[in-house]
Amino acid sequence: MLLQAATHLPLELHILDPDPNAPCRPFCQHFTVGDFRDADTVFAFGKACDVVTIEIEHVSVEGLVALEAAGVIVAPSASVVACIQDKGVQKAFLQDNNYPTAPFVLLPDGRAVQQYLAQHPGAWVQKLRKGGFDGRGVAVLAGPDAELKIMDAPSVVEDAVDIELEISVVVARSQTGDLRAYPPVGMGFHPEANLVDYLFAPVELPAPILAQAEALATQLAHHLQIVGVLAVEFFYTKNGQLLINEMACRVHNSGHHSIEANYTSQFEQHLRAVLGLPLGPTGLRSAAVMMNLVGASGHSGPVVYSGLAQAMAFEKVFVHLYGKAETRPFRKMGHLTALGDTVSQAEANARAAVATLHIIASQ
Ligand code: ADP
Repeated sequence: MLLQAATHLPLELHILDPDPNAPCRPFCQHFTVGDFRDADTVFAFGKACDVVTIEIEHVSVEGLVALEAAGVIVAPSASVVACIQDKGVQKAFLQDNNYPTAPFVLLPDGRAVQQYLAQHPGAWVQKLRKGGFDGRGVAVLAGPDAELKIMDAPSVVEDAVDIELEISVVVARSQTGDLRAYPPVGMGFHPEANLVDYLFAPVELPAPILAQAEALATQLAHHLQIVGVLAVEFFYTKNGQLLINEMACRVHNSGHHSIEANYTSQFEQHLRAVLGLPLGPTGLRSAAVMMNLVGASGHSGPVVYSGLAQAMAFEKVFVHLYGKAETRPFRKMGHLTALGDTVSQAEANARAAVATLHIIASQ
């Protein structure tokens, strides 16, 4: 989606991805197969570029530092990526700077988590410090089978929060410090897959809470001096508090609706920010609901989209398929956005369209 936005601009595009069959491959002039976690690979790839950006956080920081030293514009910067890609560093940054976030401890491995739970009974959430993505690497440790869910790796263990609603604010900041915030979105989560199931805008929460979310996201972007998009996810708790859950320094799932629902999509906005172009307006054109399209349970293998035409027949429903060759249960294969006069109208259409589309395996 970043590349789709990039095709509107006079850019020569180079992509680094470990998968030779990456869906983005046909959409760039130069494709390099390589491991973006490897410092030398990142440096060798980026050294001839004018600007290097990321759309996943798990990129070698050492490689990005080397590119910066060689005079390449890296946006977001290596130091921002270092802060955000390690959930432990990120939580410490939030706590040390008095941003509201759930209390936590950092623990080195599964044994330490087990000991901590034994000494501190209650409900906890364990998150892998590095490498987690889309709900993988997050375990709710509560109840009798809590011990069975412990993961054995360096982790953040934080209080389980009583969540009323999860919301997200995407902001974009350019090199000059120009900043635009998108209206907050609400998020609904799939309980089994532990990933965003649907997202809606606008959000109906008390105006001071929405203003606080926007102010915190703006403050964080300036504090980090990020160049590009920053997504800040919040918990609005049952007792009316706003806590920062986590940040992402890249285009984010909670901004996918912006392609159709906002005046400037987050993808174009990110490019504008990292290229030093003026930022675009972020207002909502319409109420919208975005739903992830995930692989059907029980289906693994070459993908087939059953019911695609029926889903596309819904008015003001826009289907985006990511072109992944293989489906797996709950794998994110695409998304759709429904626009409507109200969120509930958009949601009804989105759900009806999703119900007609089955992402299954051909064998
Ligand atoms: P990811 O990086 O995979 O998006 P998150 O930290 O956002 O991981 O966690 C995924 C989901 O798990 C959250 O959106 C939320 O629903 C739940 N979760 C995470 N932390 C907590 C917490 N402290 N208390 C309760 N639920 C949580």
